[in-house]
Amino acid sequence: MTTALVWLRRDLRLSDHAALSVALQEHGRVIPVFVFDRTILDPLPPTDRRVAFILESLKEIQARLREYGSGLVVRIGDPRTEIPGLAHEFQASAVYANRDYEPAAIARDTAIAQSLAGQGIQWVDVKDQVIFERDEILSRQGTPFQVFTPYWRSWLQKLTPVAMAEYPVTPYCRNLARLPAVPLPSLEELGFAPNDETPFTLTVGESGAATLLADFARRIEHYHVLRDYPARKGPSYLSTHLRFGTVSIRQLVRLALANPGEGAECWLKELCWREFYQQLLWHRPDLVEHTFRPEFDRLPFPNREDWFAAWCAGRTGYPLVDAGMRQLNQTGWMHNRLRMITASFLVKDLLIDWRRGERYFAEKLLDFDLASNNGGWQWAASVGCDAQPWFRIFNPVTQSRKFDPAGHFIRRYCPELARLPDSAIHAPWLAAPLELESAGIRQGQDYPHPLVDHASQRQAALALFKAASGR
Ligand code: FAD
Repeated sequence: MTTALVWLRRDLRLSDHAALSVALQEHGRVIPVFVFDRTILDPLPPTDRRVAFILESLKEIQARLREYGSGLVVRIGDPRTEIPGLAHEFQASAVYANRDYEPAAIARDTAIAQSLAGQGIQWVDVKDQVIFERDEILSRQGTPFQVFTPYWRSWLQKLTPVAMAEYPVTPYCRNLARLPAVPLPSLEELGFAPNDETPFTLTVGESGAATLLADFARRIEHYHVLRDYPARKGPSYLSTHLRFGTVSIRQLVRLALANPGEGAECWLKELCWREFYQQLLWHRPDLVEHTFRPEFDRLPFPNREDWFAAWCAGRTGYPLVDAGMRQLNQTGWMHNRLRMITASFLVKDLLIDWRRGERYFAEKLLDFDLASNNGGWQWAASVGCDAQPWFRIFNPVTQSRKFDPAGHFIRRYCPELARLPDSAIHAPWLAAPLELESAGIRQGQDYPHPLVDHASQRQAALALFKAASGR
């Protein structure tokens, strides 16, 4: 009977799990392992809520594994030494993992595969995180797509039942190793503290993902209509679960196809955007540092520190921008429309390098995903592939009137503006003094004056891009 380790990373579930399913079918004794990677954890602030999400999801996995008399083996350290060490300790002949496409993860996995090979242990990585990976979707010329729509068409054409078939786990669970119950480390032992000021609102683990998915399944037909309105319950809220793999992408695609209609098609397209950015980063790892369009790599942004601080804090004086940033700061999630608006505002109104915003989102988003975040920022900043054209600039007030017409979202996150009438809430600086007074607002004290004038900053942004584009 051969022994294999299955190393869980961003796939924290036990169902429809490619690596686990394959390992259980090929080995008589399978040991699931997880490593809290010190090289990733150490730079994080102790209040980072993603660690709590991971820990809670692992607890669920641990409890389910106990039902089979098995358990999760957990280590804290550097996977480059921990994984080969565990493989040696358990006399494994192979280590299985679901493939990760981020440049740093590829470097880590390559080093581990080499180290295992030195011990005569096989490294097996399989596709799980996406429906199509790496070179599976290419243009007729055999090159990666740089524009989404033809990628989407090609992706859809290839979407056969096999591509989204489930990787079953339960029928093979008898091959899980019998292991003693060992408690998981606590948040404190990992060097993290629960953040009481901003309680954890998201459902966690595979059960949390299932709850969100069941709820979304009842709303999917309206997705295309409601998805752009932050005050409405439009999207699935599954991004953190997708990030940590507490739900399988194949399951989501199957759900979309089982509910044909405009809503499901629109949602499927969003899932495809995720893969578009993943394959893009895999083909172009340099995008982590550089813009897709080289002419915009070194735009001379003025980068005013006080403006950046105001943007981060949600105190720009533009209510929908501020509401979006406060949603991010308070909950660790931001609505997609607001990610576009706040990103555009940072770059095109405040003239701050998009990389600063990208880093801020990376720190704060529970669903932070390198490929989607980088792709989203390069898109909004007009420096990426298939990006928003640089001469088209979001007007934050028009966007606010269109996507939060009654100001419900603004009122939730900017309560100081709650008593303003709908007509004034999108641009309080235009409100009549009497209107402000009866809403209890002293401009500049209770709520900031707008940091910048959109019309003139728009001109400055156009000049900056025009000079670099050579047009
Ligand atoms: P839904 O609307 O229910 O969509 C379902 C899933 O599709 C999402 O969970 C996500 O996995 C995927 N998806 C949806 N829209 C996009 C998109 N535009 N690009 C890539 N994938 C998409 N998404 C992340 O998962 N992590 C990030 O770090 C991230 N950073 C972003 C930064 C910027 C500047 C922008 C403009 C977008 C970013 N997005 C990111 C994409 C998008 O905003 C989120 O995926 C979405 O808001 C998550 O909410 P949801 O799960 O309810 O999405």
